[in-house]
Amino acid sequence: MRPLLIPPEQLKAAAGRRMAVMTSGGDAQGMNAALRAVVRTAISAGAEAYAIHEGYQGMIDGGEGISRLRWDSVAGILNRGGTVIGTFRSADFRERWGRLKACRNLVERGIDRLVVIGGDGSLSGLDAFAREWPDLLDELVRLGQVPPEALRRHPRLVFAGLVGSIDNDLCGTDQTIGADSALHRIQDAVDAVASTAASHQRTFVVEVMGRHCGYLALMAAISGGCDYVLIPERPPAPDWEQAMCDQLRRGRAAGRKDSIVILAEGAIDRAGNPITSEYIRQTIDEGLGEDARVTILGHVQRGGTPSAYDRWASTWLGYSAAAHVLTADGDEPGPVFGFHGYQVIKLPLVEAVADTRRVPALIRAGDYEAVLKLRGSEFEDALRFFDELSSPEAQARETAPRAADESRRRVGLMHSGGLAPGMNTAAKALVRLGIARGLDMVGIENGFAGLIAGHTRPLSWRGVDGWNQEGGATLGTRRLSPRVEDLYAIGRAVEQARLDALVIIGGWSAYEGAALMLAERDRYPSLRLPVVCVPATIDNNLPATQVAIGADTALNVVVDVIDKIKMSATASSRAFVAETMGRDCGYLALMGALAGGAEQVYLNETGVTLAQIQRDLAWINQSFDEADRDFFLLVRNENANANYTSAVLAHLLDEASQGRYDTRTMVIGHIQQGGTPTPADRILATELTEFALRTVTEDWDQGGCGYRCVGVDTEGIIVTDLADAWKSVDRSHQRPSQQWWLGLAELIGVVGRQVD
Ligand code: ADP
Repeated sequence: MRPLLIPPEQLKAAAGRRMAVMTSGGDAQGMNAALRAVVRTAISAGAEAYAIHEGYQGMIDGGEGISRLRWDSVAGILNRGGTVIGTFRSADFRERWGRLKACRNLVERGIDRLVVIGGDGSLSGLDAFAREWPDLLDELVRLGQVPPEALRRHPRLVFAGLVGSIDNDLCGTDQTIGADSALHRIQDAVDAVASTAASHQRTFVVEVMGRHCGYLALMAAISGGCDYVLIPERPPAPDWEQAMCDQLRRGRAAGRKDSIVILAEGAIDRAGNPITSEYIRQTIDEGLGEDARVTILGHVQRGGTPSAYDRWASTWLGYSAAAHVLTADGDEPGPVFGFHGYQVIKLPLVEAVADTRRVPALIRAGDYEAVLKLRGSEFEDALRFFDELSSPEAQARETAPRAADESRRRVGLMHSGGLAPGMNTAAKALVRLGIARGLDMVGIENGFAGLIAGHTRPLSWRGVDGWNQEGGATLGTRRLSPRVEDLYAIGRAVEQARLDALVIIGGWSAYEGAALMLAERDRYPSLRLPVVCVPATIDNNLPATQVAIGADTALNVVVDVIDKIKMSATASSRAFVAETMGRDCGYLALMGALAGGAEQVYLNETGVTLAQIQRDLAWINQSFDEADRDFFLLVRNENANANYTSAVLAHLLDEASQGRYDTRTMVIGHIQQGGTPTPADRILATELTEFALRTVTEDWDQGGCGYRCVGVDTEGIIVTDLADAWKSVDRSHQRPSQQWWLGLAELIGVVGRQVD
């Protein structure tokens, strides 16, 4: 599906229009990125952008509460948490007199287009305000506070909402602004707690935010490999205290050194009574005779720099909201923009807010089934994975003697391709889910080379302990793709290891190797087994998925480096060329440029020409001369062009500079493959491997031997026949023929290149 971008000609219709943007309610990381995109989209379209400061209160107060914003007003804010235009919970806006004043202040400034970034409260206030607008205007005319022509010039308020909420609680969208960054904060804390807990063999209780929504708690429990989770959507069964203590006890008996219980602040029991972290501590104290420690994370979850996702996704959302508001005529009901998978979607605001607001009432009424339905199937799936991954029964299998059992199916697991953070997480999830389902899991070392050499070993529940936090690939991975002449040896190795299925977690060579095995399997009967590829590569260049495991972690590394480059450049005038990995796939470069706030990006897909470089150099000089620019960032994909290398570009910049700026290059390099996997990568790794295993089992049940790949689509996790997926790749460039994110390159022109 193409990204939701409005053709530039259509956006030009917005010239001269005035729109305002506001942040309201609780702050969330990424609000600044959305604000920046809204403002710059408006300016790029020739419209005027206004900020309303301190939420609805600024609208009521008028004066300095509403101010014109220029391109530079939102410069340097992408990496900042919170919101630079302030937020407030305005009691006055709940009153009609407050909204009347707000309406007057907007109309006086010729503003009748508005983007609000806030929670469900702010959005329902926005909807109420827009409905009331004609009445308010009538009254203002009657009172003589605005001239009668205002009725004709501003007959309605055209608006759009964006959801800023770390809780990820808006029904109908997969991710809200701030939720991913909050998960980063939580995961850092859980990883830190896990290491100290393991040293002392101690239990920790970690409380995270989420009054009516257990998203943060559940996802943190999965990404942190925790033992027990309590969320409002699924209060535990009566006598849960005993069950929780049993579970922790059995985990210890199975060899776990650290035990972590996560609870959402709104966790309740079946009678609707709140479950507090202190109560859990006492329960563990009494039930296990152990002195558990409590960590309440509180506002750190809202703070800190936004994650890469919260920057690029909010930029896209901000653009979409502004483009809508600037071009719509107000006839259709105002929308809220959100995400389905990696696609921006437009939802009816009223219904999304109404569904969200039904949740607390349904929880109070004990209708948990309806609540889970509103949360969506991915949430329910995640609950199921977590239950399975933390189940004491599954752990107990490990402690019971596992005699060799010929009847038990054996699943081989290997990596292939370049290293991707999250490979270990995926391997761990696969091994544990497999063992929980009564399978034998066989690790194959160092990819196809290890398979050919017969380097296999059994993998146990305890053997993969801690893998979810570790970057790298403990099993080893190689970029080597097998050749036709290797297939005989591969077939023999599969036979010798008595594999009933093979799961390959990796990049291009995983898919290429599996496609070769598929093409030749009629000649090698031992290759007639279910094979599933799980996408894991920082390049994000695989077919039949919007994203691969590892790409999010690499992107966060790129953005972190760009932040540091920018800080290093504050003392002098600099031009930077930052080079990302990705081979012929520009995903990391483009998304890094969007999330890092680059002025230009060069990709292999779109190519680089001398004419383009000349235009850019002319623009840079003009911008340093006329717009007081003192920094310029170009992000270059490593294979953007074989001749215009980063060094050549730096020389050209130096030559053109004529003393205006110094030029530096930064090849970001292999740190992009390292690092602790991000929460998104850990969660994706768990989801995809579960689907891979499910696919294998279904194939066995049906007596099939399909070759498939799992991936993410707008509708969630999908399974695709490898043969179909392989048809949709550009083999010479090792990337999919169609790449969903490529259209976002236009956004760099809208939000990165100063026009005023
Ligand atoms: P959030 O937007 O984070 O859910 P709140 O529920 O506190 O936060 O809402 C933020 C602000 O939006 C409120 O302080 C108020 O100014 C405004 N607001 C919320 N609900 C309404 C409403 N029904 N009518 C008018 N204004 C509202």
